[in-house]
Amino acid sequence: MYVFYAKEKKGNTLILTDQEVKHFRVRRIKKDEVFGVIYDERLYECRIAKEERNKVICEIIGEKEINRPPKAVTLYQCITNELKTMDTIVRQATELGVSKLIPVISERSFRKQEAILKRIEKWKKLVIEAMKQSRRPFLMEIGTPLELKDLEASSEENILLDNFYKGVGVKEINFRATTYSVVVGPEGGFSEREANLLRSRGFKSVLLEPYTLRSETAVCAILSILMNC
Ligand code: SAH
Repeated sequence: MYVFYAKEKKGNTLILTDQEVKHFRVRRIKKDEVFGVIYDERLYECRIAKEERNKVICEIIGEKEINRPPKAVTLYQCITNELKTMDTIVRQATELGVSKLIPVISERSFRKQEAILKRIEKWKKLVIEAMKQSRRPFLMEIGTPLELKDLEASSEENILLDNFYKGVGVKEINFRATTYSVVVGPEGGFSEREANLLRSRGFKSVLLEPYTLRSETAVCAILSILMNC
């Protein structure tokens, strides 16, 4: 089932505009075909009611029940120097159910403020694309970038993924918590000073076995563990 994203609801119809109309036409949806439309944290099943030049009016015929993930995860992702890698992380974090992604500026991260703010606009679009693809009706928020030194362990369980330190294994994670913070480093990892600072603030250093992963792989690994354990 193809899924689209609406910003307007009128009575029993949802209205696709702008990019969504383009996407709709590319998919060549037929007259009686059922497709999905995300609107206001819900996923509806729809059929075409009317097509106009700049709009598609969709008749709501049902709704898919979709639960929020059992765990609210905030991902503190140090901005990778290769911004394309961040794009991948944004997509994958959306698919894997992260509630909020906060880009973090660290010693070895990408650090150009203006370029980051510009890229955030792109990430917001990628979130919508990934929501459609994964049938996730809840928005993943992209927070304002933070400096690593300002991070606080503010969730019930706070995890620092650090491959340079003999931290605990994943079995030591408290899986009964409902709120989690996860900090992941950039390509070059954290400096010792940074990692020690976060540990002193109450972040639990977790080491994933058996090897050293790329940032984007580490993100997927820890998120699938958290969401499924
Ligand atoms: N340049 C470093 C690797 C950094 S990997 C080196 O050569 O060793 C980028 C980030 O992914 C790390 O900062 C960490 O947050 C995460 N990561 C990668 N592998 C990991 C592992 N085995 N355990 C915990 N975190 C890991």
